[in-house]
Amino acid sequence: MPVKPVYNDFFGPFGGRYVAEVLRAPLDELEAAFKSAMADPAFLDELALVQKEYIGRPTPMLHARNASKILGGAQIYVKLEGLANTGAHKINNAVGQILLARRMGKKRIIAETGAGQHGVATAAVCAKFGFPCTVYMGEVDIARQRPNVYLMELYGAQVVSVKSGSRTLKDAVNEALRDWAGSFADTHYLLGSALGPSPFPDMVREFQAVIGREVVEQTRGLDVAAMIACVGGGSNSIGFFEPFIDAKTPRLIGVEAGGRGPGLGENAVRMGGDARPGVVQGYKSYFLLDDDGQVQDTHSVSAGLDYAGIGPQLAYLGQTGRVEFASALDTEVIDAVKFFARNEGVVFALESAHAGAVAIKLAPTLPKDKALVINMSGRGDKDIFISAKIITPEPWIGFLRREVETYDAGKK
Ligand SMILES: *Cc1c(COP(=O)(O)O)cnc(C)c1O
Repeated sequence: MPVKPVYNDFFGPFGGRYVAEVLRAPLDELEAAFKSAMADPAFLDELALVQKEYIGRPTPMLHARNASKILGGAQIYVKLEGLANTGAHKINNAVGQILLARRMGKKRIIAETGAGQHGVATAAVCAKFGFPCTVYMGEVDIARQRPNVYLMELYGAQVVSVKSGSRTLKDAVNEALRDWAGSFADTHYLLGSALGPSPFPDMVREFQAVIGREVVEQTRGLDVAAMIACVGGGSNSIGFFEPFIDAKTPRLIGVEAGGRGPGLGENAVRMGGDARPGVVQGYKSYFLLDDDGQVQDTHSVSAGLDYAGIGPQLAYLGQTGRVEFASALDTEVIDAVKFFARNEGVVFALESAHAGAVAIKLAPTLPKDKALVINMSGRGDKDIFISAKIITPEPWIGFLRREVETYDAGKK
């Protein structure tokens, strides 16, 4: 990797390391190990080999010719991160951190997960590299995300049900931090997005920057007007944008979950919405907070974008204007999934379809010799239990009912 990374404790006013005293030592240790690994050609060679053999990198970039023709404007290109092993970009970060954990001599991995995507990626790399794995997941999320719990357990991870607070992602993060405070001597906390206390935002960005670096190669000769990515915590977007941040072009567009529309609790629009600066879970950024300063519940049709905070670097880049923010409604997202499935034979993850939805609006406003690049952060197979009951409700529910009936009949 010829690129020299830049590390920051703070991104403007955002970021930092607002943690309990007990977590300073493991974060210091992690930062030192990360910097030394990124300067070690042997580590980078091994990372590149695992990226190639196990993840399947480089992932392709598709010229979406049919979609471009129908929309009648800019040429749409789709970076197919969904073709990475496990079906999404999260594996890039999981692979980087597990190699780092092994280099640090750690013997056990812990992680938090919300919808379960990061838990699946972590469980997969733990299986591959032979680490015992504990994934903290809210009780509510476990109940509604059974397919991902199934996969984590299939990979051999222990999924621990978190019963405190709202029993969702933020409670799972708290539980993972609590575990780590007592276990860091032999345990690595494999955090899932470009947020949390320093050095996690830098580290996750660097391990995801492989996406953007491939895009640089894959767009040579194209006149790229804009790059578009969905933003949950911000890991796929910051990795996709990374090589372009210090330049003035192309436009970098982050797409947040517009959910059911305006109103607190109806969406997860932070940068373009009602979020306020705050310090939550170890870092300063924009968060959706209620009047008491408590983290607000959010909604999105996509399980991966309904996070109340945003990575500190994106918060800063939003403030400086380098990254523009847009949002897509749940209904526009479903339409985008259908549009790319029918016209390109590619099923976007619901998260990634937020970027697709914005591209569908933007492309017709631009000339035909310009390019738009969408990051398809994941493929949509994982969403079948959500999207099928929206797109073809009756046959899908009928199918589920018959499955249960057949199973119950077999038990008798
Ligand atoms: C988790 C997830 C996201 C959102 O997370 P970021 O950290 O913002 O990238 C987006 N797309 C997919 C497919 C995901 O699984």
